[in-house]
Amino acid sequence: MIIQLKPGITTTDKETILARLSAIGYKATEVHTQKAFYMVCIGKNEFDLRLIGSLPGVEDVHRVSESYKLVSRKWKVGESGIDLGDGVRIGNGAFSLMAGPCSIESEEQVRSVAKHLAGNNIRIMRGGVFKPRSSPYAFRGMGLEGLKMFSSVCREHGIKIVTEVMQVSQISEMLDYVDVFQVGARNSQNFNLLDELGRVDKPILLKRGMSGTVDELLQSAEYIFSAGNERLMLCERGIRSYETAYRNTFDVNAIAVLKEKSHLPVIADPSHGIGLREHVPAIALAATAAGADGVIYEVHEKPEEALSDAQQTLNFSESAQMIEKVRRLKEILT
Ligand code: PEP
Ligand code: MN
Repeated sequence: MIIQLKPGITTTDKETILARLSAIGYKATEVHTQKAFYMVCIGKNEFDLRLIGSLPGVEDVHRVSESYKLVSRKWKVGESGIDLGDGVRIGNGAFSLMAGPCSIESEEQVRSVAKHLAGNNIRIMRGGVFKPRSSPYAFRGMGLEGLKMFSSVCREHGIKIVTEVMQVSQISEMLDYVDVFQVGARNSQNFNLLDELGRVDKPILLKRGMSGTVDELLQSAEYIFSAGNERLMLCERGIRSYETAYRNTFDVNAIAVLKEKSHLPVIADPSHGIGLREHVPAIALAATAAGADGVIYEVHEKPEEALSDAQQTLNFSESAQMIEKVRRLKEILT
């Protein structure tokens, strides 16, 4: 059960609610987010919801039986949207394209991609500076100095930044230079990181783990939300399967099911989802048709020279064609 409390509820009213919860055998966790104050209550006993709903200080109350609660659509019927400022919005009717290289490599590279995005009216650029690589000898990113450069170039172009944070100690140093923190597939169940990102006043793009179920992704999202950060979105980026013909198996089913189960925006990552440049546009279209609130993909001026994920990165002309098709499809769908 979730209870949303009225803003400025008095201590006496709060204590009355807690006493009633304890009387019906429910345990409450208080959750303060940027937007509201909730009590997430766990218990098994049957009771009349009005016993809680009628108490002073209660704004709203709902039964949610899933293991994830605040991110569930059973709690919030409408769509959640994220406002990044300067007219850049994600979800709740706003369809977003986010694109950029797998890794930030140089100022020249960032400038060329930023120009491509600005010319195609894309307001959010992706790019990793802390790169999780399977091999320790592969390019592992430009680090904080790269992020500072990335951020200053993007600000010049009015473009927002989404970039991966790999560990708790990086959060504070990255904070001033980031618009959206990305949690990568490998960290999807790093609960310490998720908890800490719940205390940050920046939106989060949470990727599904390589072998994570839909339910596990939603529970990871619940970590962030219940630690205080409601501004988050989910990202389907493909899962490991027995198939070896492509890098990952993009789970288009997950887009439709996540949209049904959660009020959070759902973003598709077809680049990692299939891992093959020639098929990225088809998967982006499939995800859009399945109801995604946006697409994040990899683009580079010279993909063949990219320091990571070259084989799944589009060049500017492929990117421009894909942007047009995805936008046309989105128009047909709405
Ligand atoms: C990335 O976005 O470049 C990345 C490493 O993604 P994932 O965590 O989905 O593998
Ligand atoms: Mn990548």
